Amino acid sequence: MYDLNICHLYPDLLNTYGDRGNILALQRRAQWHGINTQVTNITIGDSFDSSEYDIIFLGGGQDYEQEIIQADVLNQKGSEIKSAIDNMKVFLCICGGYQLMGKYYKTWDGKDIEFLGALDLWTVGGKERMIGNIVFESDFISEDGKPLKIVGFENHSGRTYLGEGIRPLGKVLSGSGNNGTDGYEGAVYNNVYCSYSHGSLLPKNPQLTDHLLTLALKQKYTDFDTLGQLDDTFETAARSSVIERILKNI
Ligand code: GLN
Repeated sequence: MYDLNICHLYPDLLNTYGDRGNILALQRRAQWHGINTQVTNITIGDSFDSSEYDIIFLGGGQDYEQEIIQADVLNQKGSEIKSAIDNMKVFLCICGGYQLMGKYYKTWDGKDIEFLGALDLWTVGGKERMIGNIVFESDFISEDGKPLKIVGFENHSGRTYLGEGIRPLGKVLSGSGNNGTDGYEGAVYNNVYCSYSHGSLLPKNPQLTDHLLTLALKQKYTDFDTLGQLDDTFETAARSSVIERILKNI
């Protein structure tokens, strides 16, 4: 029996638009695949040993919450996060949590917030927020031989720019994505997956959920091969109708 330990970092501060749904989706699909999961919540003041976890999740948070977290994350947790990334640990980071992995965030009202610098990316706030549904396609997962279309909901002031060696998570088909100008959304580095998509992201996109579970299982178990196929009739129907409506702008 396979077993995955999931860590929810700052669940009390980083959880906008029901981002905790990502944890629920990981747990529920793992269960359907016959895999045990445990979830541990770690927040300000808690010690954090990344070696205890197989998947680490950071949700979204407004500028205010990000400032509250800053000192705590730059300390002990920061070095644990960086070594976990080097050790190919699986991360999912949404919006505020995504920005936090980068070098800094210059807010639209002039604050300079130094972030982790675990990934070579940075964020600059704009007065106009980027709000709405987003659809993007990711070529690292395929669906019927084509890049997978991923759907989510974005609401951010920050414009994120990727440095050398950081790949985008996908190409925007509808919505703003990282910065509203270069046409890309999210970031991938080692096994770290970052996105501006709330939604929640994983319940809406089961293929991505299974992708993260697979990566984590491969990291942990040398004998693990692939996940079995689940009956995703309802998920597929819901996803494709939402994606179609967004792309047709109806
Ligand atoms: N504070 C960030 C921004 O507005 C993140 C917002 C969020 O996580 N929804 O850009």
